[in-house]
Amino acid sequence: MQKDKGKNGLTDSHILGNVLFPSWEINQKVAQLGKKITEDYRGRDLLLISVLRGGIIFLSDLARKIDLPITLDFISISTYDVGGDDTGVVRITKDLEQSIEGKDVIIVEDIIDTGLTISYLLRNLGSRYPESIAICTLLDRDIRRIAEIEIKYRGFEIGEKYIVGYGLDYKQRFRNLDSIYELNIDTVKKDIESLKNNSR
Ligand code: 5GP
Repeated sequence: MQKDKGKNGLTDSHILGNVLFPSWEINQKVAQLGKKITEDYRGRDLLLISVLRGGIIFLSDLARKIDLPITLDFISISTYDVGGDDTGVVRITKDLEQSIEGKDVIIVEDIIDTGLTISYLLRNLGSRYPESIAICTLLDRDIRRIAEIEIKYRGFEIGEKYIVGYGLDYKQRFRNLDSIYELNIDTVKKDIESLKNNSR
């Protein structure tokens, strides 16, 4: 664990709570997902798309557990803020480098919360004539879902608690932890609702 103090003077042990998923459990789950995708997509033209930045750690581990010829691409999105309020309106800040026409696409996400981001992506990418589009998410927080979406590959179901590690950040930190931690709720209470809406 990193020992540095952040700008607010808090150490990591103030901010991080319990380990929710240790690295061995994440590795086991990622291997299972990779095996299933390998079985399902044999003989097809598979493209994995990661949503920057949180999704890249999961993507890089998952890709190495898929025993097929695949290609990778990346997309980055953000939500519009109006006067400090999150409008839920999403826009692309970095688009894919390649055409997805005729390809079997899997969007690889770290976590699906309200589902608004992924449903925007499904609509946007769906209009580019892929052969198919599926979703693979490591974490699914179903209880906050607003947009109805079908998730083909799901790692873990989680509850309300805000989490960090394995790609997921708190103020851009902790993405490099190899386990997933809960945040220490007393320390960061005020921030959490706004982070759920804005963090990416
Ligand atoms: P959605 O559009 O599904 O509400 O938002 C999903 C995005 O919100 C994720 O890609 C992630 O960036 C952020 N997010 C949602 N819940 C959490 C969480 O518990 N921890 C972190 N670090 N980010 C989260």
